[in-house]
Amino acid sequence: MTDTAPEQTTYSPHIIDGKAFAANLRQRVADMVPPFVGALGRAPGLAVVLVGDDPASNVYVRSKHKACVAAGMESFEHRLPAATSEQDLLALIEILNADEQVDGILVQLPLPDHLDDKAVIAAIDPAKDVDGFHIINAGKLAVGESAMVPCTPLGSLMLLKDTYRAKTGGDLSGLHAIVVGRSNIVGKPMAQLLLNENCTVTIAHSRTRNLPDLVKTADIVVAAVGRTEMVKGAWLKSGAVVIDVGINRLPPEPGADKGRLVGDVATKEALASDILAITPVPGGVGPMTIACLLRNTLVAAHRRTGLADPVGV
Ligand code: NDP
Repeated sequence: MTDTAPEQTTYSPHIIDGKAFAANLRQRVADMVPPFVGALGRAPGLAVVLVGDDPASNVYVRSKHKACVAAGMESFEHRLPAATSEQDLLALIEILNADEQVDGILVQLPLPDHLDDKAVIAAIDPAKDVDGFHIINAGKLAVGESAMVPCTPLGSLMLLKDTYRAKTGGDLSGLHAIVVGRSNIVGKPMAQLLLNENCTVTIAHSRTRNLPDLVKTADIVVAAVGRTEMVKGAWLKSGAVVIDVGINRLPPEPGADKGRLVGDVATKEALASDILAITPVPGGVGPMTIACLLRNTLVAAHRRTGLADPVGV
């Protein structure tokens, strides 16, 4: 099985089809590229910087490039040797910040140990920070201002809102959401987004006590931990919507070269309980991350060039 092939071939009504939602979002983004080209005489451009040759990062960078090209956007790839100095990396970011053809800059993480992630992210022009990791964007999100929002939580929120609307006709206002995980790239921005939707938000982490009891009170569960099937079916409240952000690879079965991908939630158990819906792994949040990167690049391109924000993405 490849990373992109979902385990499920048919979807239960309780499974949120992130692949289909992401394909739809990518199409909507692609549809907005020609009008942008018409107005500006060029396509929105995304620069992706990869330092070193980490195999997983290589796969991500390649799929970002392909997605960009498929959406009609410009993709500028910068592959630097693992031994690149921080000074040289910062110099490249300065060039990309000044380049009018570049609307979004993404530095693929993790960086080699000798490079300081924080210094590198801080050097990116916040207007081009399509990953939404710059402290200015994190701050804007925290105070409820228009920001570049990290792609994984943004995609998760889109799936959540769409699922709620489709299944209940309602929005997320007043619901109790628990986010398990407090990283700067997933847990914290996810909690901020849910707060901005007027959810009552609990953020859980490795020191949280009585996690199963807390999860049991939540209408929305976002699991972003990185621990195989840690959230059990019995923890989930009746009618909960579960967003499984985790990507964990199991050891390979005999004869296979790669193990299966699984999430942070015990999906089969969850489906056997009476939840409203859950994202699968793979095929749930993962495809939304790249779709939201394209969406953020399109939005950054509009904002930087003084155009109104694109509607419907
Ligand atoms: P991090 O390792 O940065 O954060 C993990 C969080 O989980 C931490 O806040 C940690 O708490 C918390 N945690 C760890 N153990 C427990 C526990 N036993 N109980 C409760 N909380 C716990 O991971 P990321 O946020 O970067 O990623 C989380 C998962 O999401 C990973 O599987 C990753 O692969 C996946 N991911 C998926 C993406 C996608 O596109 N689908 C994109 C990004 C990530 P503490 O802070 O106390 O240490």
